[in-house]
Amino acid sequence: MTEPRRYLVKEMFGPTLQGEGAHAGRPCVFLRFAVCNLSCRWCDTDFAAAGSSHLDSATIVRRLLELDRYGSRLVIVTGGEPALQWDVELATSLRDAGFSVHMESNGTRSLAAVVDWLTISPKPQFHDGRFALASELRPSEVKVVVDDTVDEATLEGYERRWGACLYFAQPCQDAEYARHLARAISLVSQRPRWRLSLQLHKIIGVA
Ligand code: SF4
Repeated sequence: MTEPRRYLVKEMFGPTLQGEGAHAGRPCVFLRFAVCNLSCRWCDTDFAAAGSSHLDSATIVRRLLELDRYGSRLVIVTGGEPALQWDVELATSLRDAGFSVHMESNGTRSLAAVVDWLTISPKPQFHDGRFALASELRPSEVKVVVDDTVDEATLEGYERRWGACLYFAQPCQDAEYARHLARAISLVSQRPRWRLSLQLHKIIGVA
């Protein structure tokens, strides 16, 4: 008998609230994979393999069901970069358990299995020429972290690339947050297709 595939999982937690994008405020649980293919300068996520667990899909689903004690049946799959490990087996197991799957990806990898909601948070300023945005991805929403490198032309380029979907500008939460917030507000004020996204979970102090 073959061993089940194991996934490198950094953490699972909940119940909590989705903090960003169109579904901000919704109750959910989180599945956070370890490992990322980018190294964004202002990344605030610990995705190191150290301290992660090798878990099979049955164990992941069982733990998420335990965490989801109020029955949101919404799992936010993130990382690191979740597309590096996402596959049909895990997608099917989560769906069979009744979960809607919302994934947050940097958009540089195609998905081996479908999700119910795909957030792409592109960071080409950190690709260093080695990565490109995957051409076949069709995001439900695009969330751009606004730092000093993001301007109107950047947002316009994403609108051209992805067409009809929801667009969010979210200020980078680093030491220059006030400046990034002002920049994000200015950008969305001038581009009506865009909305401001704040990191609700940080504002209200939940994980
Ligand atoms: S893509 Fe996301 S998780 Fe990966 S380094 Fe950048 S901000 Fe961090």
